[in-house]
Amino acid sequence: MSTSNPSLRQPGLIVYLCGLGTSALALWLVQIANDNGENIMGWYANGIIPAGALLVGIASGLGYAIGSRLLHVKLSKAFVLGMITTAIIDYFAAQYLTYLSLIERMHIPPERFGFTDYLREISESMSFKKRYGSDAGEPLGGWGYAYKLLEIGGYAVGAMLPSLLVFGMPYCKNCQQYLKKHRTGHIHSPEQWAEVKKLKSKERQPALQAAINALTARANQLVAPIARAPLTETEAAIAALDPTLQKGAAARITWVLKKCPRCDAHHLQLSLTHFTVDKKVATNVVGTFDKTNVPQPEVA
Ligand SMILES: [Zn+2]
Repeated sequence: MSTSNPSLRQPGLIVYLCGLGTSALALWLVQIANDNGENIMGWYANGIIPAGALLVGIASGLGYAIGSRLLHVKLSKAFVLGMITTAIIDYFAAQYLTYLSLIERMHIPPERFGFTDYLREISESMSFKKRYGSDAGEPLGGWGYAYKLLEIGGYAVGAMLPSLLVFGMPYCKNCQQYLKKHRTGHIHSPEQWAEVKKLKSKERQPALQAAINALTARANQLVAPIARAPLTETEAAIAALDPTLQKGAAARITWVLKKCPRCDAHHLQLSLTHFTVDKKVATNVVGTFDKTNVPQPEVA
């Protein structure tokens, strides 16, 4: 492996192996649960959401996500597509292993009960437990295939979810590094939640809205000059903000600056956190300034 040419980095393969590892582990645990009478893949929420398959998928996909983050590999779209394909193959591989262990246990010769027979059997005979009591419900017949497809889909989507989180993390392509949190600052509304909370709920809504509007206007004013500015100016602007978070404020905007560990590429995100009329807390991103692809001035 050469380190002089960054395009020759190999960790993509290691990331892939990490993913295969967690997939094998997750599917093996499913198998153990199956042997003990618990079909995790068959857990459904609201009768239609394949929650079990999603969960197993998420566990399977952890390896890809952790591997790519730790090894600083940016996952390409092609990699993610390859991951979904692999997840589907993994799913069938797991079914095949179950099938093998089943015919071995029952001493059935494979020519009398093939793998496709097995797949038909588990689909058509699939049933949901009755809501009351432990009796199995009626077999689903043809509908069983639709549920199996949901299961496979749930598994594949689940396997992708952890990587999607990493996929969205700011990344410096030049240095092949994920950015690190570098500096944080806050601006707070002068309005305190303790005061706003005392208002009647009819008056609370406009009071909160006014606080949020004023705060957003201030943030826009502060961020405009640094939207395209180099790192030093951006850093200085954030250093001038409130370094400590005041939980009592009715609303606040948090500025998070992330920086490449090797160069000046950086990424600024502003998120608004505020109390709501029904006394909950809500957070959403209100601004993103990705300055990782702009060529940064060389520091001589
Ligand atoms: Zn960099």
